[in-house]
Amino acid sequence: MTTVVLLGRQGSGKGTQGRLLAERHGWAHLALGDEFRRTVRGGGTRAAALEPYLLTGELVPDSLALSVVRDSLARHRFGVGCVLDGYPRTVRQAELLADIPEGDVDVAVNIAVAPDVVLRRIARRRVCICCDAVSSTTDVTGRCDRCGGPTVRRADDEPAVVRRRLARYEERTRPLLDWYAGLGRLVTVDGHGPPDRVAAGIDRALVDHLGATSDVVGTATA
Ligand SMILES: [Zn+2]
Repeated sequence: MTTVVLLGRQGSGKGTQGRLLAERHGWAHLALGDEFRRTVRGGGTRAAALEPYLLTGELVPDSLALSVVRDSLARHRFGVGCVLDGYPRTVRQAELLADIPEGDVDVAVNIAVAPDVVLRRIARRRVCICCDAVSSTTDVTGRCDRCGGPTVRRADDEPAVVRRRLARYEERTRPLLDWYAGLGRLVTVDGHGPPDRVAAGIDRALVDHLGATSDVVGTATA
């Protein structure tokens, strides 16, 4: 199984690119934010433990995040590939992930987008309360273009929360780029263009990096 981790600032397009990458290659898309929200909606003790972190935008403790990721990876362990989006977020989380049997990462893709660009994108971002699809206020009228459900701004997309998350990215997540680079498993892709162009850049980078043994080679169309 090919396992790809997507990295980049909030608003860099990780969610969109993760979904596109999974669709193109028939891989599982594990967006940790979605997995967290699904867990909270399901109720129970793990939901009660998670909810305060989602509301405040604070980082979910490593043990709690790993337990959610482990369950998700286990569900997809017989697939051909998996895209991890939103995890790991710190070097410590990457080390913990590397320690579990399902946690071997083939390549980390850094989607590079400038800070002022991501701030504008996040201000427009809305999420469907029914199906978690993400949309922008510039191209929809308050309805999900996938299922027609109502869309809202996520609590963690409120401006004050976004500023905290971006500062935390610089402090805690950016060192991950160096960590994966040190393993020879980091590629960086320009994330400023339209989604299909960014997607083509990701496929080229994966083919370059993973080479002829990769599942990507046979299915890359761009
Ligand atoms: Zn929807």
